[in-house]
Amino acid sequence: MRVAIIGAGPSGLACALELQRLGHKPIIFERYHRVGHPVERVDTLLHLAWLPVRDQLSYLARKCGLHLHPLAPLHCIIMSSPGHRVTVRSPRLGYLLVRGRSPLSIENQLAAGLKSPVIFETVADPQELARDFDWVVVATGDSKPTRQLNLWKEYSSAVIKGALVLGEFDPRTFHIFWDTRYAGHSFGYLAPLDRNRASIHLCIGGIEPEEIDDYWELFLESEKLHYHIIETYEQEFHCGQPTRHRTGNILLVGNSGGFVCSLLGMGLFPGLISGVLAARAIAGSGDYEKMVQPLTRRLEQLNELRFHLEKLDNRSLDRLVGILGLPVIKHLIYHSGLNIIPIICNMLSRLTGSTLRTRTAKARHR
Ligand SMILES: Cc1cc2nc3c(=O)[nH]c(=O)nc-3n(C[C@H](O)[C@H](O)[C@H](O)COP(=O)(O)OP(=O)(O)OC[C@H]3O[C@@H](n4cnc5c(N)ncnc54)[C@H](O)[C@@H]3O)c2cc1C
Repeated sequence: MRVAIIGAGPSGLACALELQRLGHKPIIFERYHRVGHPVERVDTLLHLAWLPVRDQLSYLARKCGLHLHPLAPLHCIIMSSPGHRVTVRSPRLGYLLVRGRSPLSIENQLAAGLKSPVIFETVADPQELARDFDWVVVATGDSKPTRQLNLWKEYSSAVIKGALVLGEFDPRTFHIFWDTRYAGHSFGYLAPLDRNRASIHLCIGGIEPEEIDDYWELFLESEKLHYHIIETYEQEFHCGQPTRHRTGNILLVGNSGGFVCSLLGMGLFPGLISGVLAARAIAGSGDYEKMVQPLTRRLEQLNELRFHLEKLDNRSLDRLVGILGLPVIKHLIYHSGLNIIPIICNMLSRLTGSTLRTRTAKARHR
């Protein structure tokens, strides 16, 4: 069986490893000359997002055979809104992972187990490959091929500016910032790479890429993030869902399959799983569309939370952060193991008087 995988990111590599395990040898096409984005950055896995899965890395090891090592466990989250700051401490908040060119990056950890060939410096086209291969897995990390297949239903788009900075950091603390003046209805965050380096990101929807610099300056100034910047980068990010995840012999995984939530742009965990499920479907053990349903249902819940957050102004954000800081609420969210996301959605829905139906209808008309 001839299988092509487009993209040597986490979801494409997870698919390749599972195919290998099942006795197949896919060919992977990657546009860069090596595995891993040219810039190093830190990604976060928040356990809260995927409850009842309590530990995403051990789930990936047990259920997907993917043994990945984090940079560090996440022990502290600081949430800031203009008038409030809340600190949550617990040994089980999630993980920090390195991405990109680093030898320890998730991409390079996955690539270490690869026996299948990677054709580097090749921009592959799904529809062309679909003529020559039995299966094509699209893992390009963007919605472009999905749009070209007329399957993309957009929820939101954002411009992201990121920087690698030098300073002094606690390597187990993640800091998230909400302020509509510089982030609109999105957010900024700081995630440490080690004691002396960190990734800073600002994500903002509804602007043109050339506008990001002004918001970036305001973000750094407002939050007093006066660090030495080593390198910066910008990219556009689209969140949405394909109307289906398979068309003919083409399967969509990772970001290309909409396996990323618009809440905080978290897509690593669902992306890796979608890659593994695509491999299993190709090897004949199921219908890919049905296999990914639990993932898409959970993403819908997270997207709904994002939808409600978009309605909040700075005063409401202060109130929300204040509520999230109450000991009883903290306990409920971080220690009870309850799937708190629908409860928070419900609370915000009452606060803002909005329902997700409005959004789904909007998306359908785009
Ligand atoms: C700034 C930023 C911060 C993020 N932070 C987090 C986080 O904290 N936690 C989290 O869970 N998620 C986070 N995400 C989302 C997460 O990174 C993605 O969901 C995840 O990388 C998806 O993996 P992927 O394999 O689908 O795509 P990618 O990681 O984007 O990999 C796609 C690969 O395909 C290659 N490619 C693209 N087009 C072609 C082509 N035509 N031919 C050949 N190769 C091609 C690319 O070069 C790349 O190597 C973040 C995303 C961004 C942009």
